[in-house]
Formats: sequence, structure tokens, C-alpha cells
Amino acid sequence: MRFETRAIHAGLDSANAARAIVPPVYHSTIYELNEAGKQDDELLYSRLDNPNRRQWEALAASLEGGAAAAAFASGIAAAAAVLQALEPGDHVIFPEDLYSGHRMMITGLMNRWKLETSFTDATNPDAVRAAIRPNTRLIWMETPSNPMLRITDIAAVCELARSRGLLSCVDNTWPTPVNQLPLALGADLVMHSSTKYFGGHSDTLGGLVIAREDGELMERIRFIQRLGGAVPSPQDCWMLARSTRTLAYRMKGHNEHGMMLARFLDTHPAVEAVYYPGLESHPGYGVAARQMQHFGGMISFLVKGDAPLALKVVSGSELIKRATSLGGVESSWEHRLSTEGEGSKTPGNLIRFSVGLEHPEDLKEDLNRALSVI
Ligand SMILES: *Cc1c(COP(=O)(O)O)cnc(C)c1O
Repeated sequence: MRFETRAIHAGLDSANAARAIVPPVYHSTIYELNEAGKQDDELLYSRLDNPNRRQWEALAASLEGGAAAAAFASGIAAAAAVLQALEPGDHVIFPEDLYSGHRMMITGLMNRWKLETSFTDATNPDAVRAAIRPNTRLIWMETPSNPMLRITDIAAVCELARSRGLLSCVDNTWPTPVNQLPLALGADLVMHSSTKYFGGHSDTLGGLVIAREDGELMERIRFIQRLGGAVPSPQDCWMLARSTRTLAYRMKGHNEHGMMLARFLDTHPAVEAVYYPGLESHPGYGVAARQMQHFGGMISFLVKGDAPLALKVVSGSELIKRATSLGGVESSWEHRLSTEGEGSKTPGNLIRFSVGLEHPEDLKEDLNRALSVI
């Protein structure tokens, strides 16, 4: 079955009493035990498992082409679970340009628990190879990266990881499985903030880990999910599954508008540079064109001016909301340096733009209005 069909039918369990096509939300935290003290469907207690989480995980695993998925309460909880599955003293290689919240989690939490980490230029597989140490266990990728939209060659880095007996994990939040399938390119794990495009309406937090094979590593991640306890509620799983039914069609719009507005900004006199992997001028274009089906709805760009001017631009729009996060039906943007704060290497004149599903001509008018302060 093809992606659009799986997105609508995978994980749909109509084995409920009323044969409802849309499955109910199972709010119950507990399930009746049989006389032997067990539960026939191995449902016991909602933190450990529940029907809505099962359905959501089955859907997510199907769309990424994985053998198993584990759902979490947020993207950052999913990323933490992957790292907690390693041992103290293990070393992990991260890309230099990484979602800033993830970097804070690593340095403020994981390093304190003796995980060793280094950050390298992931656009260059040789730099990644040079960062490998005897205790390296995992290579982490995020491509396109946040917020610079740098591109990592997933197949090349996964091949490197495999040849050295290392695990590989790709944060696939920005491209989604509509645009990029890391497991098919050789990755062991995919991680998601389902808060973004899966949720798609800026109203639900969630995270996912999806594994190519359901073995010891995934067992460990499920253990952390259940005993660490950062699980999504049944209602959240239901919401995320509901939104994901339309993911393929929302992504068509995000991809089309992203490409259109990246070209528009690229020729705009108030714009100094545009970072979008679908532009032929992007240094990662060749790799992106090979490993991505489409280029997504995220654009970063530099305005001709300084940080105060960039802040003025993001305050000058009427449609585009001034907000962090991304992937909603509504367009939003932010002065990324203000969000990332101290220690950030993001340029002061960079604006990160999540292109929504409004009519692109209305968005162009809004961009012209906001950029007119320059
Ligand atoms: C938002 C985001 C995360 C973190 O996910 P939360 O759901 O906010 O915890 C991780 N990676 C990327 C690329 C993101 O955009």
C-alpha cells in the first residue's frame, strides 16, 4: 500500500464494541485482569500501554517503514530516551547545527549522567569520521538542520556508522516521512517531534522513536518509555493519529508553498540570503535532491540589517504569527536568536519561517508588508 493509503488506514482498530470507524479514546488508566491476575490483551495500566497509543505507534511505524515505534509525551522526551538507552561513558556524535533545546538537554542533563558528546560539521562525512572515538556508540543526524537547514548525506553517514559498528539516528521532524525516509537510507532509528507536522495544528505535544528492527535496542527504548514514564495521554495519541490521516496532503501544500516563497524571498531586495534546500544555490542541494522527495515548508533567511531590524520585520506581518515552533496550518516565524538565547551561534539577522497553508499570494503580500521596514 502507498503512503497516502497507509496514512488513512494503518493502525485503525475498529475492534471496539460499537464497530465505530473512528476508534474511541480509551481514557481508562486500568484494565480488568483475568482470574490468573493477567490481562488477555496485555493491557494492564495506561502508562505501560493503551489502545490509543498502540494505534498511534502502529501508524507511525508504518509511515516511516519501521518495524516498531514508541510514542512519547514530547519530541525531547523521545530524543532523551534514545540517549538513555546508551551506557554512561558512551560517546555520541551530534551535528553542530542542532535544535537548540536538544543541545541544552544534552549538556544540562545527559553530560551530567556521563554521556560523552561532540558536535561536528555533519555536512562533511569526513569530519564525522574524524570525530569517531573508541567509545563512540551513536551518530545523530538532523537534516535539514535547525535553524540553518544544513544537509547531511544520510546514506553516507549511515554507511560509515555501520562500517564502524555504530548506531545511527535521524531526527526526521522537519522533512516528515512524506519527504524523507531515513530507515530506507540505512538509519537504525528515526526520532520525531510529532508536535510539528504530524500534529500539524499547533495543539498537541508528542514525540516518537521508530526503529528499523524490533530488537534489543527497541526493547530498551520501550523500557525507558514505560518506566521513565514520559508517555503521551490516550487523548494526545488519538489527536496525533487523527491529524496524521491528512499528513500527505498537508505536506503537499507546505512543500509547494515553501518552494514558492523561498524563490520569492531569494529575489527580494530586503533579503541577504535564503536557506532552503530546494534552491539550486543551496550547498546541500545535490544531496537533498537525492535523499528528499520534496524540500518541506521550513525556510530560514537573513534580512539586510541587524537583529533589531529583524525583530521589527517579524512584528510587521499581519497573517504570519510571531511564534516559535513550526509545522502548523498557520504560518509562523520568529527571530531565532531571541528564542535560542545565550550561547547561540545563529546570526542576529536570521528569521526562521514555518510556511503554512494559507494562499501563497496572501503570504507574499504579508512578506512584502513586513519587509517594507527595510
Ligand atoms: C521541536 C523539535 C524538537 C523537540 O520536540 P518537542 O516536541 O518540542 O519536545 C526536536 N527536534 C526538532 C528538529 C524540533 O523541531
